[in-house]
Amino acid sequence: MRIANLAGRATIVTDAGLIDLAASSDGAFSSSVDKCVTQLGTIRAWLLNAAPRPIDLTTPSELLGDARLGPVVANPQQIFAVGVNYRRHAEEMGLVVPKEPMVFTKFVSSLCGPNDDVPIPSATTDFEAELVVVIGTKTRDVSVEDALGVVAGYCVGQDFSERSLQMLGSPPQFSLGKSFRHFAPVGPWLTTADEVEDPNDLVIRCSVSGTQYQDSSTSDMVFSVAEVVSYLSGVVELRPGDLIFTGSPHGVGQGQRPPVFLQPGDSIVTSIERLGRIENHAV
Ligand code: ZN
Repeated sequence: MRIANLAGRATIVTDAGLIDLAASSDGAFSSSVDKCVTQLGTIRAWLLNAAPRPIDLTTPSELLGDARLGPVVANPQQIFAVGVNYRRHAEEMGLVVPKEPMVFTKFVSSLCGPNDDVPIPSATTDFEAELVVVIGTKTRDVSVEDALGVVAGYCVGQDFSERSLQMLGSPPQFSLGKSFRHFAPVGPWLTTADEVEDPNDLVIRCSVSGTQYQDSSTSDMVFSVAEVVSYLSGVVELRPGDLIFTGSPHGVGQGQRPPVFLQPGDSIVTSIERLGRIENHAV
């Protein structure tokens, strides 16, 4: 099941068209995507039983570039991100492969829709294609074996990064440099976890203004999705709607020789197998 946040309304995206969840269920379900995240089992059962017909015949591929798409969760309580979580990315940045997940936050005010414009604050703004995990169940201390069971689903994300601010200070504190306006686009929709057999076996790509810089697989992660979720839950309470950016593969701008940073006018296309594509324009 795919659930988009279309003009602020939870919308099921089927191959045959779009189903407005609240309208088609006569109000049985909320129009809020945040509420849907906790009700996916019930929504799936209703979808199978009621078999509502899409009134809007927009196909998933037609919906991809729609400017009305908002973030798959509108108001998450927490956004986590993992740094240096791909082996080849550690290599290109000249960093050692971490022994424990390196966690920072993207502050929630950086969240935006999948196709929103991203203002470029500096000459050292970088792109990072990332698989984003959406938590569905409140949890603490979940084991690696059970960790994927608390995941509602997945989507495509960009961890836009202002490298100068990110690395300023000693030791550096990543969070502010990762949290400028619209530095956390996610989408195009939530793909529920049951549709993703193995989140660590997905092709992940990013191109900037037509040049493909990132082309990898989530199998290159240092800490798997299950390990990251379990690790975080050993410290903090994970809550429905929380987002986890799981790190970026090699090919980021700073890893190029010479480095390639974003400039106003660039278009950044980020895609993940089975999850879709988001496109942001640098302004
Ligand atoms: Zn990142």
